[in-house]
Amino acid sequence: MKKCEKMQKKENIYDVVIVGGGHAGVEAAHASARMGSKTLLVTHKKSTIGVMSCNPAIGGLGKGHLVREIDALDGIMGRAIDKSGIQFRMLNASKGAAVHGPRAQADRELYKTAIQDMVFNTENLDILEGGVEDLLLENDNINAVVIDNGDTILCRAVVLTTGTFLRGVIHRGLEQSQAGRVGDKPSIGLAKTLEKFEFPLGRLKTGTPPRLDGRTINWDILEEQCADDIPKPFSFMNKEINVRQISCHVTYTNKETHDIIRDNLDKAPMYSGQIKSTGPRYCPSIEDKIVRFSDKNRHQIFLEPEGLSDDTVYPNGISTSLPLDVQEKLLKTIVGLENAKILEAGYAIEYDYIDPRALKETLETKQLSGLFLAGQINGTTGYEEAAAQGLVAGINAALKAKDSTDSFVLDRADAYIGVLVNDLTTLGVTEPYRMFTSRA
Ligand code: FAD
Repeated sequence: MKKCEKMQKKENIYDVVIVGGGHAGVEAAHASARMGSKTLLVTHKKSTIGVMSCNPAIGGLGKGHLVREIDALDGIMGRAIDKSGIQFRMLNASKGAAVHGPRAQADRELYKTAIQDMVFNTENLDILEGGVEDLLLENDNINAVVIDNGDTILCRAVVLTTGTFLRGVIHRGLEQSQAGRVGDKPSIGLAKTLEKFEFPLGRLKTGTPPRLDGRTINWDILEEQCADDIPKPFSFMNKEINVRQISCHVTYTNKETHDIIRDNLDKAPMYSGQIKSTGPRYCPSIEDKIVRFSDKNRHQIFLEPEGLSDDTVYPNGISTSLPLDVQEKLLKTIVGLENAKILEAGYAIEYDYIDPRALKETLETKQLSGLFLAGQINGTTGYEEAAAQGLVAGINAALKAKDSTDSFVLDRADAYIGVLVNDLTTLGVTEPYRMFTSRA
C-alpha cells in the first residue's frame, strides 16, 4: 500500500477522477459532474473523446433500450445520436413494442462533435490529456491517480473506463503490434497496477472490418436500404430529427469469397493459434462465420457510409484480421466491391478485462473502496453497454465522494441497465457481453 508522495495544489484535488474518454467515460464524467462533484476526466487525447472505435451506429436490438434508459437518466448518448444520426431505422418494427429496436447509423464526426460539445460545456468537469499509470491508496481507499508525466492528482473516487486499451495487441495476419486501437497507444502501466492489486484479469478479443473508399464502390448495381420515412429520436427531449437521412446498400459474400478465406485460414490469427482469447459471438469475423456456418453459401454485408461529407464506407459483416493482401483479394469477389479500395485494413485486438464478479452492483470494486470500473474493461462489447455502465459508475462514484450512504442500483425487473449490471456482477463473462431484450 502506497501513500501519496507529492503535495498537491488545491486545484489538483478532485472528488471524482474518470480515466478514459470513451463511451463509458463521457457518461461517467457527465453524471458525476451533474451530481455536483468536482470531476476530472483524464484521457489520452482530448480530440478522441467520444470516438467510435468500430461501427458508426448507435442502438439496435436491446441496445436501443439501453440508450433510451440512459437518456431517461439524463445521460448524453441519446442526445448525441439525435444530432448525428444519418440513417434512423426501427428494427423489429413488425413485432410487439417491447422488442422494437431503435438504431441509427451515425456521421462519425457529427457524433464526436455532439459528445464533445456536451462534455466540454459541463459545469464541474475539467479535462486533462494524459495516461493514468498508477493508483494510490490510503487505508485501502483510493486516494489519488498518477499520470504518465509523474503528476499525482488527489481524489476521493476513481472510475476506470479504459475500453480495449489495457495491454492491447492488434493482429493483422501474422503481424502484431501493441495498441489500444489503431493509431492509439495501449495502456500498460495501469494494467500492471491492476495486476499488482490482484484483480482477476482475463483476455478478450474483438475485431473490425476494412474501411473502404466509397468512390470506388459500384453503388448502381447494389440493393438499396432506405432510412425510415419518419425518423424517431432516441432522446425524450427531442421531437424530431433534423439531420439529412441517407441510404445504405447491401451486398453478399459468395462461394469464391469463402474459398479464398478457407485457403488462407493458416494466416488468420484466430485459426493459426496467434489469438487465444474469445471474441464477440454476435459480431463474429468473416473467417469465423465461414468456419462455424460452413453450410451457408453467402453472408450479408451492409455498406454503411461513415458520414455526410466523408467517402469512407464501413462494410458491416466482414470484420477480419486476415493479412491485407487477402482482404484485398476477397473484396474483389464481392458484387459491387470488385474495384473497392481499402483505406484502412481490418484487424483484431486482444486486451485485458477484469472479471466483473469482482464488482458490487454499484460497479465499485469489492477490494478497493472508491475504485469503480465501467465499460469494455468489465468484459462487455458495444458503445451502449459501455455508456450504461459509465452512467451507473459515475453516479455511484459521486455518491461515494460525498460520503453518502445512498447507492444507485437499478433492479433487473425495472431496467435493462439493471439486467446488464446484475448479469455482469453475478455471472461474470466468458465472451464479450452484448445486451439483448431476451436477457431480461
Ligand atoms: P473506449 O471507447 O475504448 O474508450 C477508452 C478510452 O480510455 C479511450 O479514450 C482511451 O484513450 C482511454 N484510456 C485508456 N487507457 C487510459 C489510461 N491509462 N489513461 C487515460 N486514458 C486512457 N463493439 C461492438 O459492439 N461491436 C463490434 O463489432 C466492435 N468491434 C470493435 C473493434 C475494435 C477494433 C475495437 C477497438 C472496438 C470494437 N468494439 C465493438 C467495441 C467498442 O468500441 C467498445 O465497446 C466501446 O468503445 C467501449 O467503450 P469504452 O468507453 O469502454 O472504451
